[in-house]
Amino acid sequence: ARPVIAIVGRPNVGKSTIFNRIIGDRLAIVEDKPGITRDRIYGSGEWNGIAFSVIDTGGIEIDGEDGLLRLVRAQAELAIEEADVIVFMVDAKAGLTNADEEVAQILFRSGKPVVVGVNKVDNLQRMDDIYEFYSLGFGDPVALSGSHGIGIGDLLDAAVAKL
Ligand code: GDP
Ligand code: MG
Repeated sequence: ARPVIAIVGRPNVGKSTIFNRIIGDRLAIVEDKPGITRDRIYGSGEWNGIAFSVIDTGGIEIDGEDGLLRLVRAQAELAIEEADVIVFMVDAKAGLTNADEEVAQILFRSGKPVVVGVNKVDNLQRMDDIYEFYSLGFGDPVALSGSHGIGIGDLLDAAVAKL
């Protein structure tokens, strides 16, 4: 089977924007099963001749901090089960948050390879914003701008290298 890349992170960091940049129009059709809440979207991508599946986690948003933490935890755990490599998305404009650190702990315990993607680095003046994310402990963060299509190739280089 194809390797699976899962995109994980708290709401609003830009997971779906990056997912769409990776898959282009290769959205997978997944049949809904009655009684099962679907909160993952599947697509496919290819990079350096390697075909892979991509999961965009998170279609449900719950208000409040407790709900948010529950949500990111549940998403991360689902994605971990299926993923061969995890893209952990964070937001350069918001900076490092408690919810990011919650997700990091779950991902770290999983032992799966993780690439940190720092989204919303929309211009070179923001490049310094990526450094605080080294503290997550997953190595070099990759600077991204989903809006501007910056860094997608670097992200895929890093992800495919860990497959
Ligand atoms: P998700 O909840 O993690 O899937 O995030 P979305 O992809 O839905 O994006 C959340 C918000 O961030 C939207 O308003 C996007 O337009 C915005 N956004 C996504 N990528 C970028 C980016 O690179 N730069 C900026 N400034 N905004 C972005
Ligand atoms: Mg989304």
